Amino acid sequence: RFSATPRGPEDAILGITLAYNADQSPHKVNLGVGAYRDDAGLPFVLTPVRIAEKRLAQDEHHMEYLPVIGNRTFCDKAVALAYGQHSGLDMGCVARMQTLSGTGALRMAGELMTRFLSVRNGQAPVVLLPRPSWANHAAIFRDAGCRVGGYRYYDEDTKGLDFEGCLRDLEEAEEGSVVLLHACAHNPTGVDFGESEWGRVSEVVREKGMVALFDMAYQGFTSGDLDVDAEGVRRFVREGHRVILAQSFSKNFGLYGQRVGCLSVVGDSVEEKEAVESQLKIIARPMYSNPPIVGVRLVEEILKDEKLEIMWREEMKGMAERIQGMRKMLREGLEGVGSRLDWGHVEKQNGMFCYSGLTAQQVDRLRREFSVYLTANGRISMAGVTTGNVGYLADAMHRVTK
Ligand code: PMP
Repeated sequence: RFSATPRGPEDAILGITLAYNADQSPHKVNLGVGAYRDDAGLPFVLTPVRIAEKRLAQDEHHMEYLPVIGNRTFCDKAVALAYGQHSGLDMGCVARMQTLSGTGALRMAGELMTRFLSVRNGQAPVVLLPRPSWANHAAIFRDAGCRVGGYRYYDEDTKGLDFEGCLRDLEEAEEGSVVLLHACAHNPTGVDFGESEWGRVSEVVREKGMVALFDMAYQGFTSGDLDVDAEGVRRFVREGHRVILAQSFSKNFGLYGQRVGCLSVVGDSVEEKEAVESQLKIIARPMYSNPPIVGVRLVEEILKDEKLEIMWREEMKGMAERIQGMRKMLREGLEGVGSRLDWGHVEKQNGMFCYSGLTAQQVDRLRREFSVYLTANGRISMAGVTTGNVGYLADAMHRVTK
């Protein structure tokens, strides 16, 4: 029956881990994964998560279904983390739903937009992605039935923001487009908007009657402070935008495989909030029926207990600082081995990733000659860099770029 089914390609990012696992070199380095590693290169489970886990185990909690909309207490805590306690936002107008992490939140947003965002000429809404963006974005919105477009974002020459290009593209966008904004720690470039850029983007989004869809997968990873990293979202809310927000707790709680996320949609009234939630339930029911129970309980437990929350915020900051430290060591290492190239961007960029500027050919040499694995676009997952491998990495990068 499926004999004519063509074999599809491996996911580019997940494929790197497969190749890395098969490599026998003792020096091998995996800089492909978007997951935090400690300085020994090992997966990291946060202490408050371990404590919450033990508490839950003692509870002997049941295994019943959650409502389709998910764990309400968790959702309330999640939106408070994003929008802040003093946003002036009427939380009664904010629709919210527990989702299958950030990916699930984006997909639900896409499905909701295709069904209910008023569109012209019967066409699906267009979602504008920064160029470049997380590789999965285009597929998520396409599969949800949206049209996918883009706006200029990254400047190859300066390895920073192409803000002129970005503004021009947004100004010329179709009225009513949805613009996807990385709230912080942009993946893959590590280049974020600053305060004045957020202000201009907010103006253009308003002038063009666009909808702001925020993807916040790395809250805390730019500055180490969850509130500072939410400032783009909070500013849009203060300036009256009815934002849509996809939150992931994969990275900042280290709960990757637990699939903990939240979708929220800021509306104008309680009626609108209730209507949106009712439709989100109708979308989720035939797709996966209801979300998983454990990961959200861990987050709920941590955010309900002041001591655990403080511990979490501190460990979160520690992760961000370790990455920042590795950026500095990598730049210094490159200079130390005699590279004459400018590696300032390695240290300047934010979050988990460094858009190194390495070409596909250089990335290929790193893999073949040095067992260093990263995506063909030159994106380095800084979380995979450690005090133990940074010297080897700097030397390898220098050898393929000199
Ligand atoms: N958005 C961005 C920009 C990401 O990098 C990721 C994870 N790589 C996600 C969303 C979603 O991750 P998850 O589904 O694990 O929350």
